[in-house]
Amino acid sequence: MAQGARRVSLSLDYADAWDQVSCAELAAGLHEAGAVWMDRFRRGEAIPLDPLHTKILTHLKGGIPCPRRCLLAGQEWAVAPSGRIYPCAQMIQQDCRDDLVIGHVDHGIDPERVAELQRMKDRAEATCADCALRDRCQSHCGCRHLRLGGELGAITATLCETESAFIQAADDVAAELFAEQCPAFIDFYFRRAWSPSARAELTALRRSRDAV
Ligand code: SF4
Ligand code: SF4
Repeated sequence: MAQGARRVSLSLDYADAWDQVSCAELAAGLHEAGAVWMDRFRRGEAIPLDPLHTKILTHLKGGIPCPRRCLLAGQEWAVAPSGRIYPCAQMIQQDCRDDLVIGHVDHGIDPERVAELQRMKDRAEATCADCALRDRCQSHCGCRHLRLGGELGAITATLCETESAFIQAADDVAAELFAEQCPAFIDFYFRRAWSPSARAELTALRRSRDAV
C-alpha cells in the first residue's frame, strides 16, 4: 500500500498443508494486515484490501450477491490445451483429473456430467445451511473443496477456520473504524451507492442451484 497500490488482494495457498497452527498464524497475520489497512484509512486513503474488503461488503449487502456465488460450470468453462473442458480454470492443473472433465471442444459439454458435479458440490450447502456465516462465506467454491478436502462438496475445518478468520478480521477493522467515524472509511462504505450486480437484487441470496 505504501508503494501506491490502488488495490491489494491476499490469496491463500489452499494446496499447502494446513493445521491449527497455520490457521492461528493466518488469523494473527490478518490482524496485522488489518492494522496496516486501518492506518491507511486514517490517513484518508481508501484502498480495498481483499478479501477483507469483500467481507465488509457481504455485511453491508446482506450476503454475497447471486451472480458472485459459484455455479460450477453454470456460466463459464475452462479449456485445457488438450481440448478437455473443466468447470473452472483452477481445476485444470496438470489436466489429469478425468473425474472433473465436463466435455471436449470437439464434441461439446456433457450436461449430465455438469449436473453430477454440481450435485456433488452442493452437498456443502447442507453442511453450511445452519451456519451464521454462511452468506458471507466462500464455502460454495468447489476448488477449495478439492484443494482442502480432496472432493467436491467436502467442507473441512480448515475452510471454516480460514473463512472465519477473514470475516473476523474484516469485522474487527469495520467495527473500529466505524466507532471512530473515520471519514475515509465512512465515505468509502457508507456514502456511496453500491450498484446492485447485474441480474440480481443485492440481498436476493440463493442456494447455488436456485437460479439455474
Ligand atoms: S464457516 Fe464453515 S460451516 Fe460456516 S458457512 Fe463457512 S464453511 Fe460452512
Ligand atoms: S470453483 Fe471456486 S475458483 Fe472455481 S469458479 Fe467456482 S468459486 Fe471460482
